[in-house]
Amino acid sequence: MYLYNSATHRKEEFKTHTPGHVEMYTCGPTVYHFAHIGNLRSYIMEDVLEKYLRFAGYDVNRVMNITDVGHLTSDADEGEDKMLKGARREHKTVMEIAQYYTEAFFDDCRKLNIRRPDVVQPATGMIDDYIRIVQTLIDKGHAYVAGGNVYFDTGTLDRYYVFNDHNEEDLAVGVREGVEEDTNKRNKNDFVLWFTKSKFEDQALKWDSPWGVGYPGWHIECSGISMKYNGEYLDLHCGGVDNAFPHHTNEIAQSESYLGHPWCPHWCHVAHLNTADGKMSKSKGEFLTVSLLEEKGYDPLAYRFFCLQSHYRKNLVFSWDNLDNAVVSYNKLIARLAVLDPADGAVDEAVLAELKGKFQKAMDNDLNTPNGITVLYDILKAKTNGATCWAAVAALDEVLGLKLCEKAADQRAREAKAAAAAPVAGFTVVSESGETDEAVETLIRHRAEAKKVKNFAEADRIRDELKARGVEITDVAGGARWRRV
Ligand code: AMP
Ligand code: ZN
Repeated sequence: MYLYNSATHRKEEFKTHTPGHVEMYTCGPTVYHFAHIGNLRSYIMEDVLEKYLRFAGYDVNRVMNITDVGHLTSDADEGEDKMLKGARREHKTVMEIAQYYTEAFFDDCRKLNIRRPDVVQPATGMIDDYIRIVQTLIDKGHAYVAGGNVYFDTGTLDRYYVFNDHNEEDLAVGVREGVEEDTNKRNKNDFVLWFTKSKFEDQALKWDSPWGVGYPGWHIECSGISMKYNGEYLDLHCGGVDNAFPHHTNEIAQSESYLGHPWCPHWCHVAHLNTADGKMSKSKGEFLTVSLLEEKGYDPLAYRFFCLQSHYRKNLVFSWDNLDNAVVSYNKLIARLAVLDPADGAVDEAVLAELKGKFQKAMDNDLNTPNGITVLYDILKAKTNGATCWAAVAALDEVLGLKLCEKAADQRAREAKAAAAAPVAGFTVVSESGETDEAVETLIRHRAEAKKVKNFAEADRIRDELKARGVEITDVAGGARWRRV
């Protein structure tokens, strides 16, 4: 599989430390509010990546953190803890906020058919590990204590910037714009590993440490959690593109300095979902959530389909019109599958393998989901039987996660029920003798309805029941004739 690697700026063959096994890490949500559908674009695409790796035969260990401490309102060391801000907004404790929005996040994931990672670790559950890592970084000369905080010393690195081609000055200006300089820092990009001297008095969560009572920086969480659950060699690290700098850059600095060897060779960043008027943000008035989509009558899986129609490295513009177009295509796909009979014939293994191969070719090319979706249309057009089409759609949907077979099966069941409930139009029942018998005629009509939906067993049963009552029927054009025998 070829996957774009942000660390090398090119598409590369994806290789793992242990053949056939992937250690994968994803930056999890900061649980101070609902996730917006932009955040969820990242999680949908990372879910497809994980599922595709499994489809391609890898065994995957996927780890994700839940950020419930240390992420400041700026991604650098400025502002206040987002969790504290959330707690204050809702007059609750930080832990109440964390629990509520963690559950809300996984609720959204369930609705979007995003698999729960193998390991989910809240950041507050690993404080001792961060303290141990920070102490090692100090012992190795990569970190220092100044003004009460512990800082990572980026001056000890041969190379700090990994993901961007900008020069250092430009970046530093970008990071610092409008922000008062922290004079404790030896180098402008040094960052906090452990805060003891908080810029705000009421930080809710604090722990004892060798450097005084305080709390960990955001970046150390992900390094600590990944090194614990993925081991020393991570194969693949994912996140939204805004995580690349400074968060991922700082994760690499800490982890490699701590381990003393390269840490993660492959980095995957999902481009942003934006609205026509710019970046999607939680601080903007009405922010777009899965619940809002549902309130407006949208199936969350139609949003998943909308995301998959675009490549993960391209910015995606959200608008209700764009979503409506995706809904139309998604529903058409389901309807086209629903007219095929899954019991039609036996699965043609050669055709199935060919269709899966075509899908694999699309996805092996940097997870090209738009082309992967095109293969769904190829399946529906394929000159093969219903059983093979259903099997092929089911196989691809293990990765795409659109619940196509489930929805098409529901549609078939609904249609069969509606057909069975509707009387057969223009069906006339007459007796040869001219008599009328309501019970007999109702049974004859039921038999016609059963035949219409191809329930031949029921039709035969009714014929036998009529025979037992001494009634014989003859099918004629547009109806049936009966007589007593
Ligand atoms: P947060 O909860 O802010 O820590 O973000 C959770 C994830 O969403 C991170 O991987 C971010 O990089 C990602 N993210 C944030 N904004 C967007 C966006 N507009 N589109 C796609 N991903 C985003
Ligand atoms: Zn992270």
